[in-house]
Amino acid sequence: MDTHHSSLDPADWATLRATGHQMIDDIFNHLANLRDKPVWQPMPSAVRANFQKPLPQLGQDIAPLYESFRANIQPYVSGNTHPTFMGWVQGGGNAVAMLADLLAGAMNENCGGRDHVGLAVERQVIAWAAEITGMPVSTSGLLLTGSSMANFIAVLCARYKILGHSAREDGLGSAPLVAYASQGVHRCVPGALDMAGLGFNALRKIPTDSDYRMSIPALRTAIESDQAAGKTPFLIIGTAGSVDVGAFDDLAALSEIAREFGLWFHVDGAFGALACLSPTLRPQLTGIAQADSIALDFHKWAQVTYDAGCILIRDPALHEATFSQSTNYLAAAARGLAGGQPWPCDLGPDLSRSFRALKVWMTISAFGSEKLGQVIDHTCALAKHLAHRIEQSNVLECLAPVPLNIVCFRVKNFTDSQNASLVADLQEAGLFVPSTTTINGQRAIRAAIVNHRTVATDIDNLVDEIIRRAL
Ligand SMILES: *Cc1c(COP(=O)(O)O)cnc(C)c1O
Repeated sequence: MDTHHSSLDPADWATLRATGHQMIDDIFNHLANLRDKPVWQPMPSAVRANFQKPLPQLGQDIAPLYESFRANIQPYVSGNTHPTFMGWVQGGGNAVAMLADLLAGAMNENCGGRDHVGLAVERQVIAWAAEITGMPVSTSGLLLTGSSMANFIAVLCARYKILGHSAREDGLGSAPLVAYASQGVHRCVPGALDMAGLGFNALRKIPTDSDYRMSIPALRTAIESDQAAGKTPFLIIGTAGSVDVGAFDDLAALSEIAREFGLWFHVDGAFGALACLSPTLRPQLTGIAQADSIALDFHKWAQVTYDAGCILIRDPALHEATFSQSTNYLAAAARGLAGGQPWPCDLGPDLSRSFRALKVWMTISAFGSEKLGQVIDHTCALAKHLAHRIEQSNVLECLAPVPLNIVCFRVKNFTDSQNASLVADLQEAGLFVPSTTTINGQRAIRAAIVNHRTVATDIDNLVDEIIRRAL
């Protein structure tokens, strides 16, 4: 057999190389001119139909394939790179991380284990995440798809800590474990308890105070009454940056209660943990460095391209004990490529893993922690500006305090469904992408300002447009 034709590499690289160069040129033009394009547009049914075709038996050249990308894919993406995207809590990405993705693709590293530079880069990123949050240098960790997985891993480590190895061997039995988080907890936390075999009902949602922080007296009462009822409290989850309003729980108080009752203290800092990079916000995170584990995302406020979540675990031995397995085909060696223990496959559920660390490492290296902290401060300043514009208008009102980068507001004389329709109208017009949530039973327009490309004019234009449509 002709080896050449069995390879997926081209016989002559010139065509592929030329199209590749064109892609790079086009994509830089695209990023430089994002503002001229709609933030989002609905996909016409003809475009959708392009992705409902049978399996292609024969291939095609890269040039028409790229044309198809330009016509049918690029215009219909979700738009979170765009400066007027403020929906949910999503990062804008950055061009350095984009290039890192290209380089990582060329290396095609499998970062599940073995002794190679991919794992060295990942350990560097974990060490930086520990340094950012004030965790000890010995902290263990792993890059993951996102904080949903990071929170899940934290629950499994906390479960291991209370039940020991037998839970891995024999399952949970009837251990009546209970965990505590604020009412503003992200949906993935009950999801993590479910996936850990403990069930949604193992989570006590503790009421919050007027600043949307977990009530410390209510937490203490809940733990004591669970203990009195024969339950086994094992985990407190503090939220650093709640999804609805961006509130920080009192992490120092939570860590003290956790220590007093002997519970694992986890921080869901999916986006908020990186507020540690801002000297002005850092005091709000006091206590985070006492955590047993922290979940955070580089793909939100640190603007790394998706996906880039991270878990930090204070106790490296316990982290490994929670996941490690020995198998012949993955046996570690003292030297050679099979060296370099511990391997990521013994620190989490994935065996094959991408070289996710490269884009994080390149982003942090290219911009430095100071600049990334300034981006975070800038988005919070924009949120304050938005809140100020809302308070000044007699058409709009804020529905929650604005401690961080999220503003929940509404058009005063609109019903819930009119406020929700307004959001959809703005999205469909390609102008702005806020999202919605419900605050104290009222439908809110929610602007989560995360993107480093958003400027004050975008905020002013958003307010002006909403007021225009509300009158
Ligand atoms: C985004 C978010 C999550 C989920 O993280 P993913 O990266 O989307 O999996 C969890 N908790 C909070 C507070 C979040 O903001």
